[in-house]
Amino acid sequence: MTTKQNISTLCIHGGDITDVLGSPSMPLYDTTTFGFDSTADLLEVVNGTKEGYLYTRYGMNPSIKALESKLALLDGAEQSLVFSSGMAAISALFLTYARRGMICVGDIYGGTMQLLTEQLPELGIVTQFIDPADLVHLEKQLQVGIDLVFFETPSNPTLKIIDITEITKLAHKYGALVAIDNTFASPANQKPLLLGADFAIQSATKFLGGHSDLTAGVLSGQTKYLNRINAWRKNLGQMLAPEIAHKLVRSLSTLPLRIQRHNSNALAIAHYLEAHSTVNHVYYPGLAGSAHHEVAKKQMSGFGGMLSFEIKGGGEAAIKLVDNLQLFYLAPSLGGTESLVSQPVTTSHFGMPEQALLDRGITSSLIRLSVGLEEVSDLIQDLEQAIASLNFK
Ligand code: PLP
Repeated sequence: MTTKQNISTLCIHGGDITDVLGSPSMPLYDTTTFGFDSTADLLEVVNGTKEGYLYTRYGMNPSIKALESKLALLDGAEQSLVFSSGMAAISALFLTYARRGMICVGDIYGGTMQLLTEQLPELGIVTQFIDPADLVHLEKQLQVGIDLVFFETPSNPTLKIIDITEITKLAHKYGALVAIDNTFASPANQKPLLLGADFAIQSATKFLGGHSDLTAGVLSGQTKYLNRINAWRKNLGQMLAPEIAHKLVRSLSTLPLRIQRHNSNALAIAHYLEAHSTVNHVYYPGLAGSAHHEVAKKQMSGFGGMLSFEIKGGGEAAIKLVDNLQLFYLAPSLGGTESLVSQPVTTSHFGMPEQALLDRGITSSLIRLSVGLEEVSDLIQDLEQAIASLNFK
């Protein structure tokens, strides 16, 4: 299977999904270990002189390998590694490649922020947080000698877009590796590796899984970098269960179709909210008026299913609105078939220091939507009735 094929074809046929019985769906290898005919055979696999399956925690299981080979094609990567969660993928990367410290550009998911500011400093791994608009500061910090530059684009929760090619060129000039958290976009909307980045990371719990029923992570890049990460994954025990790999392969077959609908529903809702008198601001890179639209157009093929907006009336109005929505589930997470709503200050960014929230425009009146696959007019009607319940004059 070549990467030249369209993503819709790769999602269905791509990867090493071999079944000796000819079944079109991938068999599940629900086993922890594999037997050998002789010690000589076993040693060949252990030594790596022969390809084979050995022990599931090592990733040496056909269900895991099939998933990884499909994901590598989708990301345009030499190799992909899967993990038990998005945070497992992120932490394995940081533990492997951020020894001399790292730079985080722009806004990130609250859990990653906690890891960078609370746990990793305990191991002496320090992160500099840099505004993406301040390239001079970024270059100065790179000159100091940094291993890894990390960012999210689009970012959580205000959908800011960072120019992947621009930052990557600068980082590479000083020998730093670049990792992008591509969770909000998915490879159906954006391929960071093809734009020059060294690592693409995703919480597969979100759009890749797509049904809010599995937790997984993926990290893609060149084998020469992934080998070291693989050793950490193995000994930290971060492997995904084969059942989840099997479920994820099935989910991926509909990824492009789902993403098309996420994209079109989110754009329609962004237009609706933008025109609404009770909404102060809509954060969605697909809007022509968005400050991020031009860069988004350059590096994304679709703008995604996530959007945020500021409702008039402050935190109280935001809580009332999210509580009164009926189709949108009030829940953290994103990327499922069903629409979700959350107030980032009480969910994804809960506990972040006040100033850090304000610096990032994460106010109590900010509402985040993960727009699902329902009929968009029903979603708009639900928003309309919830906004009407605020009784704005
Ligand atoms: N990255 C982003 C952008 C996220 O939103 C999340 C979770 O919400 C993660 C990473 C972590 O993913 P997981 O919950 O699969 O560990």
